Amino acid sequence: MENRVLFRDVDVIATMDPHGSELHGAWLTVEEGKVAALGQGAPPPGPYSEEVDGRGQVLTPGLVNTHHHLYQTLFRAVPGAQDAELFDWLVFLYERWRGIHEEAVHVSAVVGCWELLLSGCTTTTDHLYLFPRGRRNLIDVEIEAAGEVGIRFHPTRGSMSLSRADGGLPPEDVVQSHDEILLDSQRLIERYHDRRFGAMVRLALAPCSPFSVTPELMRDTATLAREAGVLLHTHLAETDDEQEFCLRKFGRRPVEYLEELGWLAPDVWLAHLVHLSAEDIRLLAAADVGMAHCPSSNMLLGSGIAPTAACVEAGMRVGLAVDGSASNDTSNMIREARQAMLLARVQGGAQAMSARTALWLACVGGAQVLRRDEELGSLEPGKCADLVLWDTRGLEFAGAADPVAGLLHCAAQYAELVMVNGVVRVRGGRPVDEELERYVSRHREIAAQLT
Ligand SMILES: [Zn+2]
Repeated sequence: MENRVLFRDVDVIATMDPHGSELHGAWLTVEEGKVAALGQGAPPPGPYSEEVDGRGQVLTPGLVNTHHHLYQTLFRAVPGAQDAELFDWLVFLYERWRGIHEEAVHVSAVVGCWELLLSGCTTTTDHLYLFPRGRRNLIDVEIEAAGEVGIRFHPTRGSMSLSRADGGLPPEDVVQSHDEILLDSQRLIERYHDRRFGAMVRLALAPCSPFSVTPELMRDTATLAREAGVLLHTHLAETDDEQEFCLRKFGRRPVEYLEELGWLAPDVWLAHLVHLSAEDIRLLAAADVGMAHCPSSNMLLGSGIAPTAACVEAGMRVGLAVDGSASNDTSNMIREARQAMLLARVQGGAQAMSARTALWLACVGGAQVLRRDEELGSLEPGKCADLVLWDTRGLEFAGAADPVAGLLHCAAQYAELVMVNGVVRVRGGRPVDEELERYVSRHREIAAQLT
């Protein structure tokens, strides 16, 4: 009886199972944090600890965000960065980012994770690569914040070791030494990485980008990750500038450079992948590398259009991502799925990506990228109860003939109810936690101090 929840009379359940099943006038039960059963017609008899009325609503799996920088929630719409391209944008923002501290990371992670939850995202990664001198425990702090919010969390221990003095992009006081980075990576894996089914926290290792770390750190991080059995992540092929940088410094294009470092492998996922040749896509697909597609960020920074449809077609694992809030500047995951659909169509025509494909990428695609598709991404018995109820009775959906496609066509923005691991975190479109308001005002104060 404890934690036995029934969703009943749901207009449509978009299961995202391998058959793409959609159930009409449907029900779904949750027991002990997992999807127990689902079907059409009359639900199994109770008792239930809670019954949720799904009339006028669509039920989907929780969305999975595969790339983020939560601390950047403090750096939205910053004058001076608003209209810059990646390298200028970075050089300008490093000077402000270097001020981050433990409280800034905690508060921005709480705010960013709530924003994600409200937009239907139940699992998020984070890529924290900036450790100003003396600020060692920032990953510990964000793990605590994500736990407070109740989102499933995949922090990646980022790193920067190539400062301006050594031909890199970041300033001296935000990079760390090779040994310091590897020791802390090891510590974090031992302390937090949970390998069990349904884990709420899993670690990955993530040197920041080709222009901020040394080749030695890329290699040694991969060795450490493989010994520990955790995934690897980095930014790649985001801009033309990066390509020129790699050709000049390493004599290789970004994908070739990664291949040489032993990074084209099934335990790797890469953010952006905008500037890819047909040969790059072939190499990435053959190596079973995953992709975190960040359409809004790529548009805002004018980086280009990632060949997402071609990557999907080549058999790559592709997920979606909001990217950091200094280059989006929102953490709205359902809106990001809409952006992915629209941007693919700008590039390849109206049939390049359907709403259902974009939603599938946001759910199953993301779970595949994080190697968790046995547990997450679809609504099937035995999988984790990460699910989202979308109310389609509002103004923006009025007259929508197909409510599932309507989530993207009509631009859904916030979920009605969000459950993570069987626990309701958003109800009636509101966070269940009343502390959020306090965090938002503190977030504004810290942002004003840092920018
Ligand atoms: Zn990024």
